[in-house]
Amino acid sequence: MLTIEGFKQALRNAQSEIEANKDILTDLDRAIGDGDHGINMSRGFEAVVAILDDDYATLGELSKKVGMTLMSKIGGAAGPLYGSAFVKAAPKFENAIEADFALVKEALAEASSAIKNRGKSEVGQKTMVDVWEPFLSDLQASDNFDAKLDELVKATEDMRATKGRASYFGENSRGTIDPGAMSSSIILKAILKEVE
Ligand SMILES: [Mg+2]
Repeated sequence: MLTIEGFKQALRNAQSEIEANKDILTDLDRAIGDGDHGINMSRGFEAVVAILDDDYATLGELSKKVGMTLMSKIGGAAGPLYGSAFVKAAPKFENAIEADFALVKEALAEASSAIKNRGKSEVGQKTMVDVWEPFLSDLQASDNFDAKLDELVKATEDMRATKGRASYFGENSRGTIDPGAMSSSIILKAILKEVE
C-alpha cells in the first residue's frame, strides 16, 4: 500500500538519490545535452521536499502539488515533463488516502502517457519514455523493480537520440545513458519501494 506518508517518504528518498547522483546526471547531460539536468532535478526536488510538511487530504492532492512544484522549479525540458506526470497522475488518486499496487500502476501509466504526450516522443528515441513505457507495459507486483529499471536505463546507452537536444549529436549520442532515463528510474524506484 502507498499511504500519504509513504508517498512523502518516496519523494524525500528520491530527493536524496538525486542529490547523490547530481554530478552523474550533469555529466550525462553534458555529454549529449546542455549539462543542466543534475542541477535542475536537484532544485526541483528540493522544492518538493519543502512542500511535504504541509497536510494533504488525499494522494491526489499531494501528487498535484508535487507536479505544480516540479513544473515551476525544474526548468529545462524536464520540468514540464515531470510536472505533467504528477499532475496527470493525480486524478487517479483523487479520493485515495492510500493506494494498492494496481492503483499505483494505473497512476503511473497516466504519468507515462503525460510524458509521452508532452514530449511528443515514442519508445526508441533515447528519452525517459524508454524507461516509463516498457517499465509499465507488463509490470507485476512481484517484479524486481530495481533490476528492471536498471536494465531499461542501461539500454538507452546504445540508442541513437532522435528527439530533443541529444538528437543534434546524431551518431555521437550513442555511448551515453540518457540522463532523463536515469532520473526517471530514481523516481520510480523510490515510489515503488514504498508500495511494497
Ligand atoms: Mg539539459
